[in-house]
Amino acid sequence: MRLLLSKRNLLAKVVLIYGLATFFGWIFGKVLLVLLLLSLGHLWWQYKHIFLLDKWLWRDRKLTPPAGDGSWQQIFDGIYFQQRRERRKRKELRTLVRRFRDGAEALPEAVVVLSEDWSIIWCNKLAQLLVGLRWPLDEGQRIDNLIRSPEFHQYLKLQHFQQPLEVMSPTSSSIMLECKMMPYGKAQFLLIVRDITQLKQLEQIRKDFVANVSHELRTPLTVLQGYLEVMDSDSQPAHTIWQKAHPVMLEQTRRMDALVQQLLTLSRIEAAARVQFEQEVDVPAMLRLIEQEAETLNREKQHKLTFTIDQDLKVTGAQDELRSAFSNLVTNAIKYTPAGGEISVSWQREHQKAVFTVSDNGEGIAAHHVKRLTERFYRVDQARARNTGGTGLGLAIVKHVLSRHNSQLLIFSEQGKGSTFSFALPPELVLGTQTPKKRAKFKVK
Ligand code: ADP
Repeated sequence: MRLLLSKRNLLAKVVLIYGLATFFGWIFGKVLLVLLLLSLGHLWWQYKHIFLLDKWLWRDRKLTPPAGDGSWQQIFDGIYFQQRRERRKRKELRTLVRRFRDGAEALPEAVVVLSEDWSIIWCNKLAQLLVGLRWPLDEGQRIDNLIRSPEFHQYLKLQHFQQPLEVMSPTSSSIMLECKMMPYGKAQFLLIVRDITQLKQLEQIRKDFVANVSHELRTPLTVLQGYLEVMDSDSQPAHTIWQKAHPVMLEQTRRMDALVQQLLTLSRIEAAARVQFEQEVDVPAMLRLIEQEAETLNREKQHKLTFTIDQDLKVTGAQDELRSAFSNLVTNAIKYTPAGGEISVSWQREHQKAVFTVSDNGEGIAAHHVKRLTERFYRVDQARARNTGGTGLGLAIVKHVLSRHNSQLLIFSEQGKGSTFSFALPPELVLGTQTPKKRAKFKVK
């Protein structure tokens, strides 16, 4: 049990000893001599214990404290108790750190703990393998000095860590890495890196396959369609199955042709890796053409079409791709709005961005469909979509085109009230908002 030193007890002891010494000194008539001898003895006793303490702490380095007298024993025990507590805490901390490191080592991903200024605090073995870090040699080094890719530097600078980043491994150009940064602890970051080389290869194989199949299908389809268009259903003997089959065959080959065309468009957009957009796109002129096409398409349904276009708003980008995006959104509004609806199309400058909006007062789309609309072949109503001649690829194309133009499709829809599809092209692509020099430098994926 720990007994705390009490001031009163200590004082009582000192008073008692010095009182007794004074008393005996008085009896023998040598008060000063006795007090001097007592003080010297007291001093020697104190120094003896200070020496014992110093020896224990700095020379012996033993765990157990030396044997002391009186209050000194209590001080030795106190230090011994604190040391044991510290040791236990350090051990617990070591176990915790070991447990974290074992866990991080067992992960199938490379893990790097970084400080606020991007210097390396710790990394696991996989990080040494994938990213080429050397532990403990690279401790304290800035990670952007070791992963020397412009994209990675930009990633750290912009700190848009919601999205992972794909970079080439510094150890080998054939290894593709996906980096994800997340805040960790107090003013620290955790960089998680995984090898996505195989995933990328598979994705490439899939893309190549779709592109090749679509390409191979084109010629036979064109031949079939050509013959069917030349052969009139009336030119064949009456009452044969031919009269029924001919228009269906023609319609289906046209659908297939549209599908192949869209698949090829999608493959082309996906395959185009990095583009430096320098081509000026006269969007107002493009929208005038789209308006004329929309009027033709609208003959049957007689919607009220309104186009509000900023005639001076031009951008830089890929002309054909942008045309495809604008046209898809307008065509969809016409296709999916019941006859006599109202459709408004607008192209306006807003906060230095170029904003395109298509709103309709059609049936609208349920929320659970909205987030899946840009998936390939996703349709709200499969049977109806087939009748409208849709391929289910239109919005997937729009999404890819926009991502290449550093933008994204926004969809607001309320069932029974209508839908609004919109996107904003960033200021660096809008003519008249940036210096040409800066714009020419702009690159997108
Ligand atoms: P599709 O070729 O079938 O039109 P899209 O990718 O262009 O394919 O569109 C996907 C689906 O989104 C459509 O099948 C349709 O159900 C829905 N959709 C697209 N635009 C609208 C709209 N303006 N109003 C209601 N539904 C729409």
